[in-house]
Amino acid sequence: MTALPLFPVTSVGSWPRPAEVREAQRRFRRGQLSRAEFDRVADRGVADFLRLQEEIGCDIVTDGELRRDNFYSFVADKLDGVKLMTLAEMLDVVEDKAGFERLLQTLDVPAYSISSPICYGPIARREPLAVDDVRFARAHSSRPIKVTLPGPYLLTRAMYVSEMTGPVYPTKEDLAEDVVRVLREELTELAAEGAEFVQFDEPVLTELAFAPDRTRTFMCAALASRKDPAEELELAVSLINRVVNGFDNRRLGVHICRGNWSRDESTLLSGSYRPLAPYLEQLNVDQLVLEYATERAGDMMSFGDKELGLGVVNPRTDTIESVDTITAVVQNALRFYPADRVFLNPDCGFGTFSNRPVNVAAVAEAKLRAVASAARRLRS
Ligand SMILES: [Zn+2]
Repeated sequence: MTALPLFPVTSVGSWPRPAEVREAQRRFRRGQLSRAEFDRVADRGVADFLRLQEEIGCDIVTDGELRRDNFYSFVADKLDGVKLMTLAEMLDVVEDKAGFERLLQTLDVPAYSISSPICYGPIARREPLAVDDVRFARAHSSRPIKVTLPGPYLLTRAMYVSEMTGPVYPTKEDLAEDVVRVLREELTELAAEGAEFVQFDEPVLTELAFAPDRTRTFMCAALASRKDPAEELELAVSLINRVVNGFDNRRLGVHICRGNWSRDESTLLSGSYRPLAPYLEQLNVDQLVLEYATERAGDMMSFGDKELGLGVVNPRTDTIESVDTITAVVQNALRFYPADRVFLNPDCGFGTFSNRPVNVAAVAEAKLRAVASAARRLRS
């Protein structure tokens, strides 16, 4: 792995898509643009974002997930047996219609415009999930590359809708077997392609810990799961560990957060990492990428000898955190972590859903610049 400075700066995932990328994405979905035409527009957007990160001083770059509609739905374009369904379409097929409608009402999202990847047949990689994105990024940046992928638990929960999936995979554990296989195939190719850091997004873990009544879930498709949260967390740990088993020569991370679909913090989940700690400690990954800029994340703590991807700016606010504020968060983390295990990043992505980013690019850029300035000050 490339040697990194202290307090390496990186981003967590999504970046607000430029207007032309959003427009191209809309037209591509409607069949008005070919894949190649869409890629030409997206390539320009990604190349610009890579240049911006280098100029800002990011030590590890990402492609900002600019090609993705959201952080997990894109798998529908890549996997056999998976298709995108809007929440309105799902309402037609789920049996518990009243429960599903209640859920939609509590979410501060334009629910009918958000799509989820739903499994309806045996899943297999028709094409790689992110290998092409890494190849493009490598051709346009010499910095180490981080690639983000939906984690195996998130994917299984999101894709399993018993009315659609049950005939193929009787239980969600059955589907999980194939999800693990698909992600391991991807990881093998990503490693060969030179991705230095692979981050699995598992935001739904916080829902298990902080929303036991399941009324506020943001993984809308996940109504299927009514099991004991501890059992679900154990399943999540075992799936992640099976995916990463044997890939010791890359940096592997898991990102969890308490929701990033709305700027209304009161609709997002809240609670410290403490109830999750026993599970997070069991994960065989190098780094946990965690929120700490938002007060909803609670106290700082360590998780065995893992690195911390420390969230130091809130992607959902307009105020740019000062270098002093960021430095103070880092100093607090240094009470629990040696300096060479602390990476700096925003709490989460800036554009979880392409049609509803939580911030504009100018603010996102100013926040990332503040993180890089803080890193420079801390190093000196
Ligand atoms: Zn997040």
